Amino acid sequence: MASLILLTLKKTMQSFNPPIRTLMGPGPSDVHPRILSAMARPTIGHLDPAFVGMMDETKEGLKYIFQTENELTMPVSAPGSAGMETCFANLVEPGDKVVVCINGVFGMRMKENITRMGGEAIVVEDAWGDAVSTDKVEQALIENPDAKILAFVHAETSTGAQSDAKALCKIAHAFDCITIVDAVTSLAGSELRVDEWEIDAIYSGTQKCLSAMPGISPVSFNERALTKVKNRKTPVTSWFLDLNLVMGYWGKGAKRTYHHTAPVNTLYGLHESLVMISEEGLENSWARHQKNHEELKSGLEAMGINFLVNEADRLPQLNTVFIPEGVDDAAVRATLLNDYNLEIGAGLGAYAGKVWRIGLMGHSSRKENITLCLSALKNILG
Ligand SMILES: *Cc1c(COP(=O)(O)O)cnc(C)c1O
Repeated sequence: MASLILLTLKKTMQSFNPPIRTLMGPGPSDVHPRILSAMARPTIGHLDPAFVGMMDETKEGLKYIFQTENELTMPVSAPGSAGMETCFANLVEPGDKVVVCINGVFGMRMKENITRMGGEAIVVEDAWGDAVSTDKVEQALIENPDAKILAFVHAETSTGAQSDAKALCKIAHAFDCITIVDAVTSLAGSELRVDEWEIDAIYSGTQKCLSAMPGISPVSFNERALTKVKNRKTPVTSWFLDLNLVMGYWGKGAKRTYHHTAPVNTLYGLHESLVMISEEGLENSWARHQKNHEELKSGLEAMGINFLVNEADRLPQLNTVFIPEGVDDAAVRATLLNDYNLEIGAGLGAYAGKVWRIGLMGHSSRKENITLCLSALKNILG
């Protein structure tokens, strides 16, 4: 039996060479060649002094892009969803009331995390495509004075809507709640200031506007959030994501005791992406995303294609547009992929088949991609 499998494998299995695509969906975005080549460098031990030096630089780079002085700022060795789970697993205790804002897919996942951690979710709902309503959040906090946490998505990738993180954090603190913010798509793509906006716990991902490979989740916790973690009555139920343990490896002055084997080469990639953002300048990166969004927008609007989200709440890095009447969604996306090597995203939920999600994230946010996307769509739609 085993030899039969081997025989078949030898016949069919070869080194995998992916097609060269242009990635303009909701993530992953195009990974910059500098990042790919950084990842191909030799693997060293994850406790090697040379590696530890790189870890320290990585933490500093993450502090810069989060705009924070938080000591606990580090990359979780798993994708954005694990960053989400790190926040909820550490901060939500059984019985905690958590106000959670749902205006798309990722708010729904936050709610799922809350209930799985034994928390009680108080849902504030907004229509898909709208920003989170600060008035509704305030009302929910008035009605639930015992709520401990407010959780919301800054940049909802399922719709392309951006919420006012600064205002939401201000309201939460007026009611003595700490905040958990999803910044997977916003980090490095649009304005985000963790300290100035007083965000308590935040998570992101590497495969969106950092234009690095998927699989790492930068997170940051301030003192207020850490105090809640330290005062827990019950241990964090996840061993892998327990910050008390992870900090023994990533913490300042930590003896770098073994917790898990860090994804060494993937972290080379993240490090290189942070080098690139500091070369460009964070504000310049935000401005580039905005400028390219405006260019794509005028091209699409000239073709009669309209946006889902109000202009004021639109994310520059994720453009959700209505599919023109009578156009076959799946056929167009297949032609883009097969004939142009271009990937764009499909709609989700009630918007499946009705919208496209065109990403301009990180290294994907550049002029030649916009030109390719617009001319390909023009050719296909006629
Ligand atoms: C992509 C995304 C996630 C999940 O990240 P993964 O790396 O796919 O686990 C979470 N939240 C938002 C807003 C996202 O866009």
